Amino acid sequence: MFDNPRVIVLRFGELFLKGGNRAFFEQRLQKNVKRAVATLPEAKVHKLHARVLVEVPEELAERALERLGLVFGVISLSPARVVPKEIDALSAEAVRFAQEAAAKHVSATGKRPTFKVETKRSDKRFPMASPEISRLVGGHIHQATELPVDVHHPDIEVGIEIGPERAFVYAERIPGPGGLPVGVTGKVNLLISGGIDSPCAGWLAMKRGCTLIATYFHSFPYTGDRTKEKVIELLKWLAPWQGQIELFVVHFTDVQKALRENGPAELAVVLYRRMMIRTAAEISRRERALALVTGENLGQVASQTLENLAVIEEAAKIPVFRPLLTNDKLETIALAKRIHTYETSIQPYEDCCSLFVPEHPATKARLEDVLRAEARHDVAAMAAMLADNAERIVVR
Ligand code: ATP
Ligand code: MG
Repeated sequence: MFDNPRVIVLRFGELFLKGGNRAFFEQRLQKNVKRAVATLPEAKVHKLHARVLVEVPEELAERALERLGLVFGVISLSPARVVPKEIDALSAEAVRFAQEAAAKHVSATGKRPTFKVETKRSDKRFPMASPEISRLVGGHIHQATELPVDVHHPDIEVGIEIGPERAFVYAERIPGPGGLPVGVTGKVNLLISGGIDSPCAGWLAMKRGCTLIATYFHSFPYTGDRTKEKVIELLKWLAPWQGQIELFVVHFTDVQKALRENGPAELAVVLYRRMMIRTAAEISRRERALALVTGENLGQVASQTLENLAVIEEAAKIPVFRPLLTNDKLETIALAKRIHTYETSIQPYEDCCSLFVPEHPATKARLEDVLRAEARHDVAAMAAMLADNAERIVVR
């Protein structure tokens, strides 16, 4: 079956391997790995003890590596090769890997690298012990390359793993995204705007194992369809981390006008936000999402004072998570760049919360004033109507 194939070794955090959730987490991770390479039909996923091995044809290795780098729960990845379980074959492959890694190191740094060999043998039937294997193979590499050994801080670490089923060799450990496998903690509803923050908040929720759905409040024609396209574009960057994302576009204009016409102008932003939260919670109930996620941050803008956040959250029947709450803007921008949403987010767009808004919105809205303004409407019915009429778009 294994004729020296190209494989990618995925390692996941030991922490979540402990306790009663282990099997569940492992299954989910494996499922997510399969999904990540589903469009590479020849890729095969094998489960090993505390590892997942993805076997790919040579020419697909780069693409597979790229996609597998988007699987939360993976702490590191190594391009590797499966080798027959006998010492000469292992050694020859290790020499090849060392030569390849050394050439890369030289072209990147102009310096000759040091190396060491690290062996893990969990198949105790294999006739040699790990240190003995490392020493022998290290000798062969040294002979072939004349590279110096450094057991403490090597530039290159050649890994040999000899498991009960198969043995493999690698020389590179690429950091994975970490976190928990998407799906293990449950479903949440991301309130997404066209800005920098909300896509980052959604990414962080996925990193913590949440499956995302998303809700966007659209105020056509005041916010143009370009803004809706922008939101879809942002979700396209998030989708590969979980497969696909269902987006609910809420047509918000008429309700905004009604709230604005029947309430004090300075409360408009808070009234809009409460209606957003209420509607998103209603969509969540229907879609079995258990919490809302926003890109809110303390103190950035008038609508994000502690007083206003409290009054806004009062309208939610489910928890509201704000993963960016304590970030500096620069930290969020760095994250947005890393997940590729930044370039899209900084395109100009209209913000529906700035619609029909006075120059000086309340920074310390009082709940009693807000409730009095809302008493003129059947806000629950409005939220249900908005949820009924939301447009559902699957983003891949
Ligand atoms: P962002 O960069 O995400 O737009 P922001 O710093 O501009 O955030 P606000 O515009 O006050 O802050 O929005 C705060 C949060 O409210 C957003 O992160 C998002 O979660 C939610 N939100 C704002 N506008 C919308 C909208 N039109 N549809 C859905 N959610 C929204
Ligand atoms: Mg915004």
